[in-house]
This record gives sequence, structure tokens and C-alpha cells, in this order.
Amino acid sequence: MYTAQHYTFYVADEMSCLKCGNDSHDALRFRVLEVHTLHIRDFTGERIIQALGEFREYEICTACAEREARAFLYPAKMILRKCFAFIGLILAGMILSLLLALNDSWPAMKEIFALRALGPLAVIVGVIGIFGKAREILSLRGKVSRMNHDDAMNFAAYTLVLENAPKKYNDNDITYIPVSKDTLNMNAPELAEKYNLLPSISVKAREIMSNGGKIDE
Ligand SMILES: [Zn+2]
Repeated sequence: MYTAQHYTFYVADEMSCLKCGNDSHDALRFRVLEVHTLHIRDFTGERIIQALGEFREYEICTACAEREARAFLYPAKMILRKCFAFIGLILAGMILSLLLALNDSWPAMKEIFALRALGPLAVIVGVIGIFGKAREILSLRGKVSRMNHDDAMNFAAYTLVLENAPKKYNDNDITYIPVSKDTLNMNAPELAEKYNLLPSISVKAREIMSNGGKIDE
């Protein structure tokens, strides 16, 4: 378990792009603060234990950021990639329905309503999933297309940081608070809301970010 008092400041000597691993001479660098969250489910319901981890620095090379920014603006491939599971679900549902419809040697199984409903249900869940994901990606596309080039690159690169940075440490979920002008200007309740922090953790995060999370601006 973590002691909330223990913070070390982590700076890698040689940075490489978190996405492609290339030495990133020309890169966007982000400083983030780790938040470790443990979900505990017992008879009293669900509660969480949260602690701050370490400061980390991650870099994304401009080539990767550029590619990701373009992917946001021309999102067909991104939609396909993120909807892969839903497409699989639809196909599985259709195959199951087809097998049940064609195979007369399963009369007993055909009588089971739950099994017959499973195919169409999978298709419906898959279609809803695809619509939801596509809407989310298209709204991001709108957001990115309204940004200037630097902001779009920054947004794309930080998206890659969140996608590629560790998400788990043992049973703990790891999330990140970016140390930026925006977050340094937030008060504890704002941080708590935006980054799903317990009140005491958001106070602590605010405190150490303003002490140790200096940025070169
Ligand atoms: Zn890269």
C-alpha cells in the first residue's frame, strides 16, 4: 500500500517517445502526477482508497502527435479501431441467430427463449455501442478542428500519453493529473471533480503540485 507522504520527483535522463520509443529530440513533454485508486467491494458496498503516486515525465514525438491529430480530424479508421469489439459482438450475434435458425437438430435449444434472444441482443448492444463510440469520436473531431495547430498537437500528444502510460499498479488503477497552467490554477474542489479525487487527496494534490510541479513558462 502507498504512503501518501512519500513523493519523489522522477525525471528520466534520456527520454524517448512514449508511443513509438524513438529518441524524441523534437517532442512535447508532459509532467503528470499519478493518482492510485483501489476499489474495494464488500458487503457495505463499494468504496475507494486513493493515494497520490509520483510525478512522471512523458514525451511524445511530434511525428506521433501529428499522426494522432490527423487521426482525430479524419476519424474513420479511429472509429473502426475503437468499435472493433462491437463489430465482433454484432457478428457473433448474427452467427448465433443464423445457427439457431438453420440447425433443426437443436429443437430443444430453440425452445429456450434466453438463448434465442441472445443473438439479437448482442446485435442491438453492438449497434448501440458503435453509435455511442462514433458520436464520442465525432464530437472530439469537432473540438480538435476548432483548435489552433499547437493546441491540437498538445491535445493529441496528451491523448497518447494517457493511452500509453501505465494504467495499473497491482490492483490499483492509475490515473493522471497533468501539471499544467490550467491545473495549477484550479482549486481543490475543481481538481477533485475533474480528476475524480477524494476531497483530502485533491487538497494534497493541489499542495504538492504548486510546490513541486513547477513548469517552464
Ligand atoms: Zn513517437
